[in-house]
Amino acid sequence: MPDRRGLSVHAVRVHRPVRALLTVLFLVASVAIAAPAPAAPLPRAKGCKGLVALTFDDGPARGTTHRLLQILQKKRVPATFFMVGQRVAADPRAAREVERAGFLTANHSWDHRDMRTQSYREVRQSLRATRRAMKRAGLHPTDLMRPPYGALAPPARRAIRDAGYVPVMWSADSLDWKSGDADQIARRILGGLRPGKRNIVLQHDGVNRSPISVAAVSQVIRVAKRRGYCFTALDERGRPGFPTPTVTATAKDGTEGGEAVVTLRLDKPAGRDTAVVVEALSGTATVGADLPPLHLRVEIPAGRLKAKVRIPITADAVAEPTEHFTLRLRHPEGLRIVQETTQVAVLDVPPPTAPAAPATRTDLPGPPFLALGPKYS
Ligand SMILES: [Zn+2]
Repeated sequence: MPDRRGLSVHAVRVHRPVRALLTVLFLVASVAIAAPAPAAPLPRAKGCKGLVALTFDDGPARGTTHRLLQILQKKRVPATFFMVGQRVAADPRAAREVERAGFLTANHSWDHRDMRTQSYREVRQSLRATRRAMKRAGLHPTDLMRPPYGALAPPARRAIRDAGYVPVMWSADSLDWKSGDADQIARRILGGLRPGKRNIVLQHDGVNRSPISVAAVSQVIRVAKRRGYCFTALDERGRPGFPTPTVTATAKDGTEGGEAVVTLRLDKPAGRDTAVVVEALSGTATVGADLPPLHLRVEIPAGRLKAKVRIPITADAVAEPTEHFTLRLRHPEGLRIVQETTQVAVLDVPPPTAPAAPATRTDLPGPPFLALGPKYS
């Protein structure tokens, strides 16, 4: 389990010369982990000889899975983990570590029974119980599943489809459960990669021989990269690529002399780092006067579903009705924007108690104004 810090501040790129003002802006990741999340840049399919999606079945198995996550993070390579429900229920922390480290999770049945021997109802129960265990462990699993042994019969196919799952097989089999040392397993995988194809590699992090298989991963990544392959996760259709989560912004009302807090949320894990530009547009509240100019590229690291942006609001001396400005999301990277703009209300500070006297700066209530004053000096 990675250490958790309550708060982490991420570097953000400021495009305009307002760095001084924006020093009071910072980003709070909702789920912070000590280890850096893997950055999986969007593969430029044109520049790649082929795509490779690494997949690991039968986990989580605490020690082995943890070791594997370390290797993948160090190499900044994405992967997808097909988990067995019973294992997730037995060790939810090990399962959670996978998602927090930035990797996608998927369903590999409850108890690894051959689905050809199961009825429609049994398959649905197996998938449902696994999904429930994953959610209970704090995961946001994909709608991808892999049948144990890759074995399916018509009732199981119907059950999978009716449950909203996409079955995912593989194209390069490591046979890691069966035989070979790390070098032999790596060569088997590399020998199965096809240029110009969408390659899906099958390995295991939850079987007896998994430590040997995990030891092959570095070599697979190194050699495949040298040969021009690009690594991806799996998209919503179960093909090498990445899911495209929807990003939404919600804003808490700002207060003069305080701040407006904007929360960016993804509806599902992205399996890689994503980003979106947040801009402020003047409404009745004026950008450049009531709040600083804002044009900020906010990065949401793999493994996180939330980021917060804090926008300082200037206090003025005038009692006035609630004002508004507009937040606009632009230039999504790996994300989809459904609603581009969000209204943010700016509430006036409580009016001075002196009746009807025109407000001046010295009339303003002390703490909110004075506390923030030095930030603008
Ligand atoms: Zn399996």
